[in-house]
Amino acid sequence: MPPSKTRVVVQTAPRALEMRDMPIPDIDEESAILRIEACGICGSDAEQYNGVIEVALPLIPGHEPLGIIEKIGDKAAQRWGVDVGDRVAVETLIPCGHCSTCIGGRYNLCRGRGDRLFGYAYVPLSTKPGLWGAYADYMYLDPHSIVHKMRKDIPANIAVMFNPLGAGFRWAVEMPQTGPGDTVLILGPGQRGIASVIACRAAGADTIIVTGLTSDEKKLALAKEFGADYTINIEEEDARKRVKEITNGRGADVVVEVSANAPEPVAESLHYVAMGGRIVLAGVKGGKPVPNFISDLVVVKEITIFGALGVTSKAYGSAIRLIESGHVPIEKMHTHDFPLEQTELAIQTLAGEIDGDSSIHSCLLPDLSA
Ligand SMILES: [Zn+2]
Ligand SMILES: [Zn+2]
Repeated sequence: MPPSKTRVVVQTAPRALEMRDMPIPDIDEESAILRIEACGICGSDAEQYNGVIEVALPLIPGHEPLGIIEKIGDKAAQRWGVDVGDRVAVETLIPCGHCSTCIGGRYNLCRGRGDRLFGYAYVPLSTKPGLWGAYADYMYLDPHSIVHKMRKDIPANIAVMFNPLGAGFRWAVEMPQTGPGDTVLILGPGQRGIASVIACRAAGADTIIVTGLTSDEKKLALAKEFGADYTINIEEEDARKRVKEITNGRGADVVVEVSANAPEPVAESLHYVAMGGRIVLAGVKGGKPVPNFISDLVVVKEITIFGALGVTSKAYGSAIRLIESGHVPIEKMHTHDFPLEQTELAIQTLAGEIDGDSSIHSCLLPDLSA
């Protein structure tokens, strides 16, 4: 049985977080209470913290929960195939199940069922019962939750990497249908870029190239450890020329754009991609327009451009199987653990705001403060 109260971290304004205690509610037959073991921190946490992503405050952030089912209603247990004591990976989205995107099989585009009820970390405290985020010891699981049972013998800070790896599988493999014979170029060596390398390797891609900046030196080296064949420092090398050389003049079959903030790589991707190639845009640019985007290249090269928002169950499943297989030393991309009290530091470290410290994958571990 869960205790009667939980610690939570509440965002009250941009760049303002505070620790509070909140009551843990009773649940009905269709919902559950999760004890958080770990919550992953990703680029969108920093955007939410800085007020770039528009949310209704106050709320509890944290959209990458991993935890143990502490209490569950009979119907939920039956529907989800899990019971008290099971470890589950929780998907961010809480789809309504009835709108045209849900019915069309693209539930990641669902806008929810009112009261901003569409995904963990984005629902305000004013929507009952308020415990909608994983920056906490306990979280409420809505009847529309999607959960994946996971083995419990993997350390929580590693198991929680189902999030970036799921993104790697969806964005770099599933959407552009990457497979044997493909050369993949990944723009940006952050946690999503490295996860893309791991996913493309698992999918059997022939050649993997990763670009980055001088300040990304360590991340580029890690990308190679995970199976990238080439890395390009775009500040020191002519990236267009290098991609041509590596691909015998053809260009990359697949380009995955996962760099943060700067819009220039989006325009460059049109030059890197092969005739008939596929480009996946997954890094958001704060609403900035893309200078020098030559749309003629899309036409004359018959390029297919995908926009990627979120992750879906199939890709999460691939990520979880890869983690559970133990075949890939994914712990090498895990750099930081933080207790709940240091949530702001965790976000600032991931965002690169802390001098001399650089993170690839970070997470909150509520148990660290116990
Ligand atoms: Zn995330
Ligand atoms: Zn829907």
